[in-house]
Amino acid sequence: MMNGKQFRDSLRKLKPEIYYMGEKIDNVVDHPAFTPHVNAAAMTYEMAEAPQFEELLTVKSHLTGAKINRFTHVHHSHDDLVKKVKMLRTIGQQTGSCFQRCVGHDAMNAVYSVTHDIDKKLGTEYHKRFTAFLKEVQSKDLMIAGAMTDSKGDRSLSPSQQADPDLYVHVVEKKADGIVVRGAKEHLTGGVNSHGHLVMPTSALKKEDADYAVSFFVPVDTAGLIHIFGRQSNDTRKCDCSLDQGNAEFGSVGGEALVVFDNVFIPWQNVFMCGEYEFAGDIVERFATAHRQNYGGCKTGLADALIGATYALSEVQGTVKAGHIREKLVDMVQLAETLYCCSIACSCQGIQMPAGNYMADPLLANITKLNVTKNVYEIARLAQDISGGVLATTPSEIDWKDGRIGKYVDKYMKGVASVPAETRIRLVRLIEAMTCGTALVEAMHGAGSPQAQRIMIGRQANLEHKKRLAQKLAKVGEQPHFVS
Ligand code: SF4
Ligand code: FE
Repeated sequence: MMNGKQFRDSLRKLKPEIYYMGEKIDNVVDHPAFTPHVNAAAMTYEMAEAPQFEELLTVKSHLTGAKINRFTHVHHSHDDLVKKVKMLRTIGQQTGSCFQRCVGHDAMNAVYSVTHDIDKKLGTEYHKRFTAFLKEVQSKDLMIAGAMTDSKGDRSLSPSQQADPDLYVHVVEKKADGIVVRGAKEHLTGGVNSHGHLVMPTSALKKEDADYAVSFFVPVDTAGLIHIFGRQSNDTRKCDCSLDQGNAEFGSVGGEALVVFDNVFIPWQNVFMCGEYEFAGDIVERFATAHRQNYGGCKTGLADALIGATYALSEVQGTVKAGHIREKLVDMVQLAETLYCCSIACSCQGIQMPAGNYMADPLLANITKLNVTKNVYEIARLAQDISGGVLATTPSEIDWKDGRIGKYVDKYMKGVASVPAETRIRLVRLIEAMTCGTALVEAMHGAGSPQAQRIMIGRQANLEHKKRLAQKLAKVGEQPHFVS
């Protein structure tokens, strides 16, 4: 396994093509716009080394028996699923920000099981290839980014109906030694600081869309692969003064990129689906289930830090003894722990797949994520309520340190007399970073927008069964002894 330093060094050796704010970025590890994201991802390596987190962050590989980082593991029990959730909460508590590595982890679990099913039905050899890839990921302890969302163009049209065929990633050429792909994947969490991307289709597909049914691994510095890093709210603060960032070490979001595939060559050994359109929907559903399972883990870890910051600020501001502040803090805890309950429940109810691996219960995993789209906003609302308007009006670190006006900022930003103004400013900035702008959008749309969860919940809700239950009680129609 790699440690944090080895992870950073391994990234420095790569030469991916990355752009941000008109600049070509040669080194993400040491560039202030990216360092917090690298630090957050590095925690998945550093905590694996720490004895107190070993049980959560490491596991025995089912392929080799070797001790591996859990982020490279394919779950093989309910315990594995539960430990994933606990691991995410534990890391989130330390980073207060997205640590990114889960997307590729979930992608690997999805592709592992679907390649097995494709091979079984069609006699292909994708699972063998994928298993060889997975062994390499495990032995080198690689960070893989999961790449699912296409740019999609006109949402009312299928991939092959789009005016521009590149709006979904597709195969443009098949060669003896591999395939050539073109298109783009969006919102790639951790994409610029991963070793490579595991690409999957973005939706269920029909026969006419077979060219879009493609899954493969691509190293981050492959020719033709272009990363365009997204802007985040307050991102220029990363490059001026550190205190105003709120969470200078780990940032407030994962760091997402638009990744363009400009005729990228993929050798066959890295291709895990090529034209088997009838399995595209399975990859999407299994990946979505795995990633939605997570959100009551990582977001609860973040909420732990946010609740702590809000509590600490109320002490500094002298409001901590007010009854309504206590009540609101308890409400925040209830909202957060509800999410955790959901993630633990969908893990305990996980199902074994034909490949032998385990996947969370899809209905409960989707419920988890749909709750996140509401509870995280409500937690943030309560944090902002308790904090006060100072969240939006605090002067900058530059003015606080200014020779002429700094003394006024210091004097009037103070809360209770015994605590320096700096403590209050730091807590305010942390709460601002965790509850404003991009950080919240992640809770809404990460792992798929709420409507995607509603569709999957609707599909699995079995309303007919519920109707039969009601009909029996109301003495309408057939009256079986037990409704099944
Ligand atoms: Fe992991 Fe959470 Fe970030 Fe998704 S949002 S990558 S589950 S930390
Ligand atoms: Fe996410």
